[in-house]
Amino acid sequence: MIPKPLSDSARTQNTAAHIAGGRSPKNKTSRSKKSRGRTAARAKVYVYGPVPSRRLGFSLGVDILPAKTCSLDCIYCQLGPTPRLTTRRRPYFPLKTILAEIKEKIDSGNQIDHITFSGSGEPTLNTSIGRLIGGIKKMSAIPVAVLTNSTLLTDKKARRDILAADVVVPSLDAATEEGFIRINRPPAGLTAKKIIDGLIEFRREYKGRIWLEVMLVKGINDSPSEIRALKEAIALIKPDKVQLNTVVRPPAEDFARPLSRHLLEKIRRGMGPGTEVTAEFRKTQPGRRPGDAAEAVSAMVRRRPVSLQDVARSLGKTATAVRISLAPLIRSGKIRARTHRGVIYYEKG
Ligand code: SF4
Repeated sequence: MIPKPLSDSARTQNTAAHIAGGRSPKNKTSRSKKSRGRTAARAKVYVYGPVPSRRLGFSLGVDILPAKTCSLDCIYCQLGPTPRLTTRRRPYFPLKTILAEIKEKIDSGNQIDHITFSGSGEPTLNTSIGRLIGGIKKMSAIPVAVLTNSTLLTDKKARRDILAADVVVPSLDAATEEGFIRINRPPAGLTAKKIIDGLIEFRREYKGRIWLEVMLVKGINDSPSEIRALKEAIALIKPDKVQLNTVVRPPAEDFARPLSRHLLEKIRRGMGPGTEVTAEFRKTQPGRRPGDAAEAVSAMVRRRPVSLQDVARSLGKTATAVRISLAPLIRSGKIRARTHRGVIYYEKG
């Protein structure tokens, strides 16, 4: 996934608790649970954006996992390698605090096209996701999206928890066991077949839209046999559409290389109708309320690297204006800029 979208990565190995309070272990033990909740709410650790998304417009990200907690360790992951590889579901954070943050963002008046569960790993690992979606539905009509790597769709309870979402963007990068291991590096016992069966089951149960994402990596899952296997699996899953993507942002592994636009288009044609290449995001945030640009960017890069162009679109500013306003953050070491394939990205310092 994504995100799958989107760094709390190996480059930024903070837990969410660290981000929340920036506190020492001593402080952590001396504070009451209630006090910790208030600190987390002030630091806005669970909600970020709205950030521009190629698929979801202006997306208010909801991040309900400690960074980075995932059931896969994808070679292309923009969050870096997975230090907490798990398929065990748990209630990670206080529901009320997360809902209060979401409400605050909705009330701020910025354009929000989707409220999206994504962030620091696989959101369906959090057992509160169903109640969170229900809470959002009570407070707003903004569509809810869930970006998932599909691994937990093997679990009936996890599938049930996201039935109230308006759109689910599951990923399936390989339909062969060899390809699945090569690109997604799953924990023992998780197979491509189980995931495909879970996706087929979910399609039967779910009434909303399913946009299946396939991340293609050069030399890893782009061979004719891998594409054929994917096509056969997709025919059984029957998503509303298929979105082909490739490695654009800095990946976990340097050997994860992108496919050319030409090859992506060729594969898209071979996949047939309903398949698209995820296009570069072009919208600009209209009339975004003047806020603290530095704070907004700090929140964005806390989870994943963000390109200069994305920051500019999100804030409704020119690239030059963004570079000027971010200069103090870079000088102070809070964020850093780096160039990947000719594109400037900002990430946590
Ligand atoms: S490791 Fe894979 S599934 Fe997990 S967050 Fe990264 S890209 Fe998504």
